[in-house]
Amino acid sequence: MAFVMSTRVVESIGEHVEEVKQGDTVVPVFLANCGECRDCKSPKSNQCSKFGKKLYNGMPRDGTSRFRDMNGQTVYHFFCVSSFSEYSVVDVAHLVNINHYPLPPEKACLLSCGISTGLGAAWKEADVEEGSTVAIFGLGAVGLAVAVGAKQRGATKIIGVDINDEKFEIGKRFGITDFVNPSTCGDKSVSEVIKEMTNGGADYCFECIGLSSLMAEAFNSSRNGWGKTVILGVEMHGSQLTLNPYLLGRTVILSLFGGIKPKSDIPLLANKYLDKVSVIKYILIRCVDICRKKHVMLLYSVVITGP
Ligand SMILES: [Zn+2]
Repeated sequence: MAFVMSTRVVESIGEHVEEVKQGDTVVPVFLANCGECRDCKSPKSNQCSKFGKKLYNGMPRDGTSRFRDMNGQTVYHFFCVSSFSEYSVVDVAHLVNINHYPLPPEKACLLSCGISTGLGAAWKEADVEEGSTVAIFGLGAVGLAVAVGAKQRGATKIIGVDINDEKFEIGKRFGITDFVNPSTCGDKSVSEVIKEMTNGGADYCFECIGLSSLMAEAFNSSRNGWGKTVILGVEMHGSQLTLNPYLLGRTVILSLFGGIKPKSDIPLLANKYLDKVSVIKYILIRCVDICRKKHVMLLYSVVITGP
């Protein structure tokens, strides 16, 4: 979901908006956080029930678009934040104010999706502990952030699974200790290889691609009795997920945004960035290096609306 990452500066605000003011630096987030509904108030959920089920191609309160093209035709919003536009109109429920955290905007934008998702998955959803074994399917931004989070928690073996061998060298800098390329496993399945590497299965498995077959393989790779699998990828073909019902004692979490609650957790991550030796600082700097090589553009202006 790197396509929804951005940092913005508030250009103007609508009536009754008090949370941000003109000139504030904000992080737009695709996930709503109204702070008022039962789910927003509960520590068990990060899925706002007031706005969370609204369509992503319009404003969350009335579903309308605020954009028109030069011919007056409607241009629809994108994931409620419209990150690709130079100027955007965003509901305040989709914004996190980081004005009190002097993060460089090119690093703050990474907290709006992928990096927060990976760290949240390792720290909040899996709650990885010292000495554990971890398998990460897919070493993109989310998978690498999972590796950093697992390493910070003291995981001793962190296995990266990817069909691109170059990801191993990149992954080493983020905490990956071992690597499996599914295309070179021969007659064995990836789960069989991981079980051999971990003497029975990884304590924590993370699927960061979005394929139901890989989700099932991650589940198969987890340790019998207590293995936990966190699924972060969004199934890209609409396929159903089928799990072996006899792999008893294992759990699966279908995670959204790594369990991160935008308005309360992103400021905590931003604060951690300001620590001189913070793991957050490390991963943001490294990921910005990668993004620059891919010519990712960062845009900084926004108009805010609210209740
Ligand atoms: Zn809510």
